[in-house]
Amino acid sequence: MQTSFLGSESASKTDLFAGVSIEAPLRRGQVLDYKIPPALFPRIETGSIVQVPLRNRFVLGVVTCISKDTNVDPKKIKSLPDEQPSLPVLKKYQLDLLLWTCKNFACSLGSLLSSLLPKQVREEQKEALSSCVRRLQSKEKIRMHILAIRNKKPAQAAILDYMLKVRSQVTLQELLEKTGSSRLPLKTLDQEKWLEIFHVPKFSERSCNYSYITSNPKKLNQEQKAAVDKICAEIVENSSSTHLLFGVTGSGKTEVFLFCMAQALALNKKVLYLVPEIALTPQTTDRVRARFPDAKIALWHSGLTAREKQAIYQNLLQEKIDIVIGARSAILIPMDALGIIIIDEEHDSSYKSQSFPYIHVRDLSQKRAELQSCPLILASATPSMESLYQCAKSKNSSTKIHLLRARAQGSLPEIEVVEKPQKNVFSPRIINDLRDNFLAGNQSIIFLNRRGFFHFARCKLCKTTIKCPHCDISVTWHQSERAWHCHICHYQNPILPNCPKCAQNAFITKCGCGTEQLELAIRKALPQARCLRIDRDSCTNARTLHQKLSEFRTAKADILIGTQMVCKGHHFPLVTRCCIVDADSELAFGDFRATENFMQQLTQISGRAGRGFENGKVWIQSDVIDKEMESILLRHDYGVFAKKELTERKNYFYPPFGHLVHCLVASKRPGEAEEFANQYASILAKTLPSDAMVSDPAPSVRARLHDRYRWSILIKAAQRESTVSLLEQALAKLTLPSSCTINLDIDALDLS
Ligand code: ADP
Ligand code: ZN
Repeated sequence: MQTSFLGSESASKTDLFAGVSIEAPLRRGQVLDYKIPPALFPRIETGSIVQVPLRNRFVLGVVTCISKDTNVDPKKIKSLPDEQPSLPVLKKYQLDLLLWTCKNFACSLGSLLSSLLPKQVREEQKEALSSCVRRLQSKEKIRMHILAIRNKKPAQAAILDYMLKVRSQVTLQELLEKTGSSRLPLKTLDQEKWLEIFHVPKFSERSCNYSYITSNPKKLNQEQKAAVDKICAEIVENSSSTHLLFGVTGSGKTEVFLFCMAQALALNKKVLYLVPEIALTPQTTDRVRARFPDAKIALWHSGLTAREKQAIYQNLLQEKIDIVIGARSAILIPMDALGIIIIDEEHDSSYKSQSFPYIHVRDLSQKRAELQSCPLILASATPSMESLYQCAKSKNSSTKIHLLRARAQGSLPEIEVVEKPQKNVFSPRIINDLRDNFLAGNQSIIFLNRRGFFHFARCKLCKTTIKCPHCDISVTWHQSERAWHCHICHYQNPILPNCPKCAQNAFITKCGCGTEQLELAIRKALPQARCLRIDRDSCTNARTLHQKLSEFRTAKADILIGTQMVCKGHHFPLVTRCCIVDADSELAFGDFRATENFMQQLTQISGRAGRGFENGKVWIQSDVIDKEMESILLRHDYGVFAKKELTERKNYFYPPFGHLVHCLVASKRPGEAEEFANQYASILAKTLPSDAMVSDPAPSVRARLHDRYRWSILIKAAQRESTVSLLEQALAKLTLPSSCTINLDIDALDLS
């Protein structure tokens, strides 16, 4: 054995090594080996979150294995630092879910961790505390003291004044806010034992336990009952099955969830309930609270602060929470005795991350249900082709489709398709109908998925659309700010650039109606009606949005004009008319999912009409909807559409029949992205199996964004995991220029 004055050069028998997946956004789920110092032996285990040295800094990582051997040269191996602030440990199912996701969505464990778990959860596990203040002396003594210090120490006196009004205690934050005081006078009062600052475990007020008026379970109809019986049986049996609840809007899907949740809670099991955009659907939360007033319910979404999340995370670890209602990132939270996972509006694209790591939470939830042996409900009025196909093709009993064909209350709205008028925004019949509806005291929703006043500008001479100077995107006129905007890079300019072809702007015309213009048109046509507009310009934060939605719900407005923000799952009982101003613009984006997205959006919008006692009507303005599609729409037959759509997808080996990967290469330097895309595609053509298809690299649909040139390669393949592995191996053979980026979006939804 070779020895040196530093000791043995080979790994000694007592050495232990940790394989650590690190936080740096490595694309290949790479694991680096580190030596474990003896001081950490008793504390470290698989799943521990550790600080590791990487080049000249420290990053977070997760220990994925511990072993006595390593392939790394012992002279080069780095040691984990002795000093680890804390070593939070991921549960086995969390780690397994993460490892599976890395293999299926081409990302590193560390990058998943940083996108799914807030920093404070990853770094420390101390009990989250909240500071409170209480009196230490009698009110009488405090009054006397106030008199003595009023003139000399007004800040202390103000604090004591406030404390006299408090029944027992107050949070430190409230005290400081209400008195406008700094911490210093409070500290003095604490030292002088007039008051006491103390700490209590924080259980975020905003996130749990409200008292609500209880709502009683409904009497289920036959279809609801069949679904509930089957799913509840699976909860009892701890069976990891998938249930697609395919029910028209208002058919009582939520009622089915509530029954299944009751079953899980009765067995002392927990519930994970995911919704696409929790900020948009406060009613869901209210309904759950009203049905389960004694359950501990927490919300988990991006609107919470890191500290709030930390507090909830602690409570989850201590199994103090029964139900989590959450957005996408809730899929990774710890919940041991999971009884059921519910994915509401499972077709919604917000379950798929649009930035790295490009995960699809619907797939993760299925894996999690499998890891924790519990049923999963995927619910929608317009299921994704993926879920429909998966549940329909399955021969075993672990996947099942449950149909809810009728509305639980009221009936589905009547639908009428009309031609788009040449000049005006609306056909006269629609305006007359909206007026009658308003005069009858009912509400209407008008939908247009385009913001701004004029949607774009075009040169009359050469028909060229005027684009943002930095992006391959047309610019939009916003009347409120009197400027042309790019919706991608936020470029703004009151003056329109010249037409790139004719080099002048004398012939440029403003075209296309956006929501701003629509609002003006409605106000002109129906001056007495109270209008509300909801789009990203008029609702820049969640509070305004909530406020507007609740104004509309409580009938403080008659007409709601909005983009897709208005069509997600809202329940407005007084709405009896919906109007889709320009259905054709929804179909204009040319990728293979356009019709599916269009049908989903249309059904969801129509679903807002007639949810109360009055029947509803939906107007659709379109020049391209053909007879076949019209008849599907009129009969509310999404199932027929889906069958036809699946046949077409099968012919072209599109998802759900094959997996589709969008590989996007981008660079500021013209030519660089193209060159790298060509190199990569040629390696892929040689290494992927013969049943995979690799497209020739081509400029992306949005060929330039933020001044970066973008090239795309599309890959279709039968197998996901093995393809991801081959894609990563091929990438490892190349050197990516530092000014170039590459994204592998697995099961991509956005192909632009
Ligand atoms: P979905 O989730 O499918 O849109 P909901 O569960 O919100 O449907 O139900 C729509 C409305 O019908 C709600 O007001 C709900 O309380 C009511 N509802 C649901 N199921 C029943 C039932 N079995 N009997 C009576 N009303 C019901
Ligand atoms: Zn731009």
